[in-house]
Amino acid sequence: MKTDTKCIHGAYRPKNGEPRQMPIVQSTTWRYESSEEMGKLFDLEKSGYFYTRLANPTCDNTAAKICALEGGVGATLTSSGQAANFFAVFNICEAGDHFVSTASIYGGTFNLFSVTMKKMGIDVTFVDQDASDEEIQKAFRPNTKCFFGETITNPGVKILDIERLAAIAHRNGVPFIVDNTFPTPINCRPFEWGADIVTHSTTKYLDGHGAQVGGVVVDSGNFDFAAYGDKYPGLNKPDESYHGIIYTQKFGKLGYITKTVSQLMRDLGSIPSPQNAFILSLGIESLHVRMPRHCSNAQTVAEYLEKRKEVAWVNYPGLKSNKYYELAKKYCPKGTCGVLCFGLKGGRDVTEKFLDSLKLVGIYTHVADSSSCVLHPASHTHRQLSDEQLKECGVDPSLIRFSVGTENIDDILADLEQAFDAIK
Ligand SMILES: *Cc1c(COP(=O)(O)O)cnc(C)c1O
Repeated sequence: MKTDTKCIHGAYRPKNGEPRQMPIVQSTTWRYESSEEMGKLFDLEKSGYFYTRLANPTCDNTAAKICALEGGVGATLTSSGQAANFFAVFNICEAGDHFVSTASIYGGTFNLFSVTMKKMGIDVTFVDQDASDEEIQKAFRPNTKCFFGETITNPGVKILDIERLAAIAHRNGVPFIVDNTFPTPINCRPFEWGADIVTHSTTKYLDGHGAQVGGVVVDSGNFDFAAYGDKYPGLNKPDESYHGIIYTQKFGKLGYITKTVSQLMRDLGSIPSPQNAFILSLGIESLHVRMPRHCSNAQTVAEYLEKRKEVAWVNYPGLKSNKYYELAKKYCPKGTCGVLCFGLKGGRDVTEKFLDSLKLVGIYTHVADSSSCVLHPASHTHRQLSDEQLKECGVDPSLIRFSVGTENIDDILADLEQAFDAIK
C-alpha cells in the first residue's frame, strides 16, 4: 500500500460481515474463564487484552495505523504529545543520565526537559541545530543516552537536518528521537533519514479537527540497544517488576516499545481513551488529502504576506527567501506544513488590533488544524513578559504564529485583506 492508502486501510481491515468502521471498544477489562490464562497474560507469556491501561483494540489499531504510516515496527498511543515525548526519553534515561536536545523545540517540551526532568535527576544539554558537527559533538558525554529534535520546529518552522544529526547521534552510540508533529508522515518520514524513534502530538494534523488531545511513540526497531548492554540497563538487564524479563532478549526489535507499554504505561498510566483513539483514526483517514491543501494555502498566504508593506518579516520554509528552503526541499519535497510566522511593523497595539479584526481566522491556543488560527505569544502565552524579557527568551515581540487551515484560499486572503484595512 502507498502512504495515502494506509491513511484509510493501514491497520483495521474488516472481514466478512464486520463493520466498515473500527469499533470503539469502550471497556476497561475483558472476561476470562481460567485463572491460569489470566496469569499468563500478566506475565507477558501470552498476548491478549485484559486491562485498557495496558492494551485496548481501538487504541492498538490506531497506533498500528500510525506505525504503518511512519514505517516503524511498533507504536503506542499516549494521552498527549507531552506524554509521548516524556515516555520516548524516559524509557531509556534514568536519574544520573544525560541527553542532548536541539534548543528550538515546542515550549512545553522545553519545560519538560529543562525543568521537570531535571528534577528527576536527568540532565539535558540544548544545542543549536544549525551548529557545526564539531560544536554539537561537544554536548555529548559518556552518560548521554539519546539525542532529540523536531522535524519542523514549533513555532520557529526551522527544518531539522535529520540525516546529519542522526549520524552524530549514531557516532555517539545513542538513538535519534524526532518529534514529527508538523510535517506528519505524509510530508516526511524521519526513519528514511536515519531517525530511530518518532513521536507526535496527534492533537495537531493527525487528528486535524481540534477534537482530541493525544500523542504517539513509534519505534523503527533500527537502533540496536542490545549492542550497548551497560548503557541501557532498563532494556538489557532483568526487569524485576516483570519476573526478570530482559526486553531486548525476549522482544528483539520490539524491546523498546514493549518496555514503554509494559513498564511506563503500567506505572504512569498516560493512556488515551478508546473514544479519542477512534476520533484520531477517523481524522487520519483524510490526512493525505488535508496536508497538500494546508501546504498550498500556507504557501499562498506566505507569498501574499511577503508583498504587504505592513509586514516586517515572514518565516515559511516554502519561500525561496527562507534560510531553510533547501533543507525543506530535501526532507519535505511535497511541502512542509501549514504553519508560518510573521511580524507586523509597529508595536503590540498594531498587532492586537490586526488580530482582533480577523473574522474567519480565530484566535486559538492551537495549531495545525483544519480551521485557520493565530496566536501572538507576546499577547497570549507570554503576556506577563516585557518586550526586553521576550527577546531574552528568544520570542520576537512581533511574532504572530499563523496556522493556515484548509478553507478556500480566497476566503483566507479576504479575511487578511480586511484586517489590513482595519489597521490603516
Ligand atoms: C503541541 C505539541 C506538543 C505537545 O503536544 P500536546 O498534545 O499538546 O501535549 C509537542 N510537540 C509539538 C511539536 C507540538 O506542536
